[in-house]
Amino acid sequence: MLISERLKNIKPSGVRRIFDLARQMKDPINLSIGEPDFDIPVPLKEEGIEWIRKGFNKYTPTQGIPELREKITLHLKKKGIQFEEVMVTAGVTGGLLLASLALINPGDEVIIPDPFFVMYEYQVLLMGGIPVFADTYPDFRLREEEIVKKISKKTKFIIINSPNNPTGAIYPEEDLRMVVRVARERDLLILSDDIYDNFVFDAPSCSCIGQFYEKTLTFGGFSKGWAMTGWRLGYVAGPKEILRQMITLQQYTFSSMNSFAQKAAIKALDFNVEHYIAGYKKKRDLIYNGLKEKFIVQKPQGAFYLFPEVPGGNGEAFVEKAIQQNLFIVPGSVFSKRNTHVRISFAASEETLLKGIEVLNRIS
Ligand code: PLP
Repeated sequence: MLISERLKNIKPSGVRRIFDLARQMKDPINLSIGEPDFDIPVPLKEEGIEWIRKGFNKYTPTQGIPELREKITLHLKKKGIQFEEVMVTAGVTGGLLLASLALINPGDEVIIPDPFFVMYEYQVLLMGGIPVFADTYPDFRLREEEIVKKISKKTKFIIINSPNNPTGAIYPEEDLRMVVRVARERDLLILSDDIYDNFVFDAPSCSCIGQFYEKTLTFGGFSKGWAMTGWRLGYVAGPKEILRQMITLQQYTFSSMNSFAQKAAIKALDFNVEHYIAGYKKKRDLIYNGLKEKFIVQKPQGAFYLFPEVPGGNGEAFVEKAIQQNLFIVPGSVFSKRNTHVRISFAASEETLLKGIEVLNRIS
């Protein structure tokens, strides 16, 4: 056989499918997108361009340039995150891949609260691991009995993502502390994907696992907060023992990271994005208020997604109806073992959101 056994359970991303469909349409109402609708702020773009002009265009150290690693260290220390080592990665995606390669043996189990970001399931499968889902419906809270029930002798780690894609939920501190207690009692590692940590709407900031537990790999990035999705930059911080292996793996996979983006990222960590977040809070309010009468929906506390249950309870059928009206959203089944919900991104203009709200209410 030409293709490796490793790929036998791997399917193309359901989000990409909707995204590609929308791209073929004229004037789609596209609420399927998982990236900010603003461009990289001008001073950060200028910084990147400046470093290209200065000739900072060669390979950089595998673990990232020292001045960016120092800046990330300060940033995480300010947040109270515990870690021993930090490395720069090709987005959170690259960091997750290195962590999966470093940690998962075939047959190892990984606990993933459901709904979840699609990549977690497939990266675990790619390593021959077994994703084990812990249900968080209907209010998207972490429940001790549900998580404990899923832990076995084969459990390797738990993945937590807060603010969450696709639900927009932020797990309250008591939920995070509960997961830490459960993990500590069993000496389990936690992977904490904090990529949306500056998209927080109703409080100045949110708690994260790394503040409470030393056996955490904390993932962060520049794709969402500073709209650098195409520049592919993120980082991982955590125990030295694991990070050292991940840095070695990076030598043989990604080699080194985007040079000029690392320089711009130093500036990004000092660049205040509050006014963007305030704009997203307005969009959140607009779409939540526009849909709450007809849909059962939790108010998103962060990120830029809404995850309502659809009338009739069939997310995929609902998405088909929406697409017939030129509206692109993603069925919940892409992010979950259930097919009762849909993911709506509010990273779009107010005009697009208003059109989307109108169609959603009409077809519900
Ligand atoms: N983690 C979550 C929860 C995401 O939603 C995304 C992007 O949609 C990523 C990670 C990927 O981020 P990056 O662009 O840093 O690879």
